[in-house]
Amino acid sequence: MKLKKQLLNALGLDAADLKAGDLAVHSPIDGGEIARLKTDGPAKVAKKIDRAAAAFREWREVPAPRRGELIRLLGEELRASKAALGELVAIENGKILEEGKGEVQEMIDICDFAAGLSRQLYGLTIASERPGHRMAETWHPLGVVGVITAFNFPVAVWSWNTALAIVCGDPVVWKPSEKTPLTALACQKIFARAAKRFGGVPKGLLEVVIGGREAGERLIDDPRVALVSATGSTRMGREVGPRVASRFGRVLLELGGNNGMIVAPSADLDLAARAILFSAVGTAGQRCTTLRRLFVHETIEDKLLPRLKKAYGGIRIGNPLEPGTLVGPLIDGAAFEGMERALKRAAADGGKVHGGGRVMSNEFPDAFYAKPALVQMPAQTDVVREETFAPILYVMKYKDFDDAIALHNDVPQGLSSCIFTTDLREADVFLSARGSDCGIANVNIGPSGAEIGGAFGGEKETGGGRESGSDAWKSYMRRATNTVNYSNALPLAQGIVFDAG
Ligand code: NAD
Repeated sequence: MKLKKQLLNALGLDAADLKAGDLAVHSPIDGGEIARLKTDGPAKVAKKIDRAAAAFREWREVPAPRRGELIRLLGEELRASKAALGELVAIENGKILEEGKGEVQEMIDICDFAAGLSRQLYGLTIASERPGHRMAETWHPLGVVGVITAFNFPVAVWSWNTALAIVCGDPVVWKPSEKTPLTALACQKIFARAAKRFGGVPKGLLEVVIGGREAGERLIDDPRVALVSATGSTRMGREVGPRVASRFGRVLLELGGNNGMIVAPSADLDLAARAILFSAVGTAGQRCTTLRRLFVHETIEDKLLPRLKKAYGGIRIGNPLEPGTLVGPLIDGAAFEGMERALKRAAADGGKVHGGGRVMSNEFPDAFYAKPALVQMPAQTDVVREETFAPILYVMKYKDFDDAIALHNDVPQGLSSCIFTTDLREADVFLSARGSDCGIANVNIGPSGAEIGGAFGGEKETGGGRESGSDAWKSYMRRATNTVNYSNALPLAQGIVFDAG
């Protein structure tokens, strides 16, 4: 597959810059090479962090609502580039065009949110115990934010972090996935257009580092990077978390999920079936919030499963750029092999596998299109408890609601979850302290496709980080507690007397 000149022009990318480099970029649509980029060595990464650190000293003094104006302009530029960037996302990542454009819409939404937020970085006024004193809590820019992103949301995750960081007064150094660096370069160009319109943006406010794990390691080890926001596998988080902590840096981790749905006897099965299909097979099962575990009450399994099998049979798998396609390719051969391995293990554990296997290999011998799989499992075995980043849905029966919740929570990950029920009590128990232990818990909608207004993230091995909406901005700022004495005396807290006479 060749990148069209028209598309590159629309995104401000120059074909000549994408030809000579050590990093080959492939489109999962046909496996063909679409670009070669130069990776950044240690000196270059350090230089980019230097520039970002210098930008911080200027940017932190720009009033927050003015900083918000830059992000408002970024939102406008993204609106103008939505079709082109959405298409490049589909080409580089393999998600269907509709979802590629949806990802850009999410970027626009977070820009709108952050522009408003720039006037609402509220602190607190606190009652002082001392006469003639007042206390306050104020929020200040934190420093350089290192953003490391995964291949599966190549641009939205950057924007969630960047829109908030910039409004909070922090420059960003972004290390995108080595599998999707082109979309990052396109975002850099879009950001530059917004910066030009804004005028006077310090150089280094957004830096992009191209490279793999080594480049990421350089970024996380640099003491000038005040916050590392890293999205990816739990394996990556296990390495990044302790490394950043060892230098007392801040870390925001958004790691793997193993998301579940409980379908209760009272559920609206039409809604449930549609939600299952979108959340289990959408994005070819490569969302962190993809539905991977389904707990169906034993009295309705006979009604739900045949519908699902039928729906799975009719899914259009194919070129994600063609209208009507619902499932595109997996990112690469390793992802396909991971899927095959998991299905073999599930079968060995007594699972009944429907679907799975490679398709379209004649048309696309170098790409990996897979049939989504439904697996009826006799129990939640080890393979079910792991995240396999592919369209596999494990289906398990349950009898007792409390057992279903216990099974649901009995996995190392804690990202997203949901219940389909029309029983008020069940719904609220699921959302309560003894219900789902995930960062996201929904009723009568699937676990994926979150809106930007809420805080996004999960518990346990998902890493505990929260980004995007609500008060996630607080991770990008430092908090100061201020006590001001406007009296003529110096009373000490706790009534301590310390008088030298
Ligand atoms: P990955 O862990 O292989 O890579 C993610 C990023 O981390 C890449 O940019 C990579 O270069 C970098 N990296 C890897 N090891 C590193 C290290 N030691 N130091 C610094 N950087 C390092 O993940 P992936 O395959 O690109 O993405 C899929 C995974 O991401 C899935 O597990 C998915 O659930 C997860 N994910 C989570 C969220 C979330 O918000 N919780 C969102 C999207 C994806």
